[in-house]
Amino acid sequence: MALIVAVPTLAQDLKTLVDNQLPGLVEIYKDIHAHPELSHEESRTAALLAAELRKAGYAVTEHVGKYPDGTQAYGVVAVLENGPGPRLLIRADMDALPVVEETGLSYASHLRTKNPAGQDVGVMHACGHDVHVTAMIGTARALAALKNQWHGTVMLIGQPSEETIDGAKAMLADRLYERYGTPTLAIALHDTNVHPAGAVSITSGPVAASATSVDVTLRGLGSHGSRPDLGKDPIVMAAEFIVQLQTIVSRQQNPLDPAVVTVGDIHAGSKRNIIPDEAKMELTIRTFSEKARETALDGIRRAAKGVAVSAGVSDDRAPIVTVLEDESVPVTYNDPALAGRVKSSLVRALGMQQVFDDPPAMASEDFGLFGLGGDKIPTVLFRLGAMDPSKFAAAQAEGKELPGPHSSRFEPLPEPTLRTGVSAMTSVAISLLQN
Ligand SMILES: [Zn+2]
Ligand SMILES: [Zn+2]
Repeated sequence: MALIVAVPTLAQDLKTLVDNQLPGLVEIYKDIHAHPELSHEESRTAALLAAELRKAGYAVTEHVGKYPDGTQAYGVVAVLENGPGPRLLIRADMDALPVVEETGLSYASHLRTKNPAGQDVGVMHACGHDVHVTAMIGTARALAALKNQWHGTVMLIGQPSEETIDGAKAMLADRLYERYGTPTLAIALHDTNVHPAGAVSITSGPVAASATSVDVTLRGLGSHGSRPDLGKDPIVMAAEFIVQLQTIVSRQQNPLDPAVVTVGDIHAGSKRNIIPDEAKMELTIRTFSEKARETALDGIRRAAKGVAVSAGVSDDRAPIVTVLEDESVPVTYNDPALAGRVKSSLVRALGMQQVFDDPPAMASEDFGLFGLGGDKIPTVLFRLGAMDPSKFAAAQAEGKELPGPHSSRFEPLPEPTLRTGVSAMTSVAISLLQN
């Protein structure tokens, strides 16, 4: 009589591991969700992540990262060595946003804090970085338990300050690679509202746009509100300037090379009957090419100069246009060869019908910086569907989209989002950690 012994496959092992972890992971997720922290302030989240990764057997360092002003960042680095082989960086960002949560969930955040300008704001994990941190904890445990399935080194990065796009820079500036080794590959995931929980998606080539932060100050001349003729009204100039900006994308850019110019913040004046001295605006530019970025910057500079000239502002009060390099990032690029390998392992882990190809997004990311630019370290960021499948289907039937990242109503469904996140990331990591 032949004896047939069932040999457990990696997929079965992983499924059992994830099943066992899931209730605990959902608890961790709800805890992180209820305790969001703004960029530069991720002390609790970083400590929680570091403690979990230490428990999972990783060599963990906290407080990795230095900002340009010299302050220390809350970056976490966790290394697990497992013989010779590739060195794989996996990144999870940890910060939340100044948004008042309106999901009504039992574990919703009710926290308030001060933003860097000292204003009282709500805080919410409106970009779902709590999903990323929790999925990293699950992945770390699974990779430690499945050490016989891979070899090489895993380098987990708990990254602060993605939303201010200075966290990856801060970690690299703190000699991340000199201290912990330069990775051969880098991967990350980001949750999304454009797919239901259970699904993932991947893009080959550019995946997220470059972001350029620009401050514009239009300087006029203050006067009494009843005597505009004695001043130069910067509020009227700002209004003209913003309308003029709308022609950059519509009239100045190559229509086949996408760009966005947004004025997200405007401040001027203190009282209805005073014409103020100046109007300040914060802009963001999103593009996929350097040409489109330069066109947008030129357009902004010319529009600012033009309204000032038109208003008769003297040269010594010319507009000030400042590009904030510390708050700008290049295009995030998914290396096509690595994207192909990642996609194959996602298909093996989740099935063909759960893996989608997505176009690039105009949102921006600082994850690409871990690739050191060019093609030195191939990087791939894939997206993790996070929406309740029934709500997703209902919205689709109506031709609508469920609230997405940065919305006060963005609501990832913990299970099966976390199950899929851990399974997907672990499977991808193991497939990359061969030879
Ligand atoms: Zn995000
Ligand atoms: Zn975000």
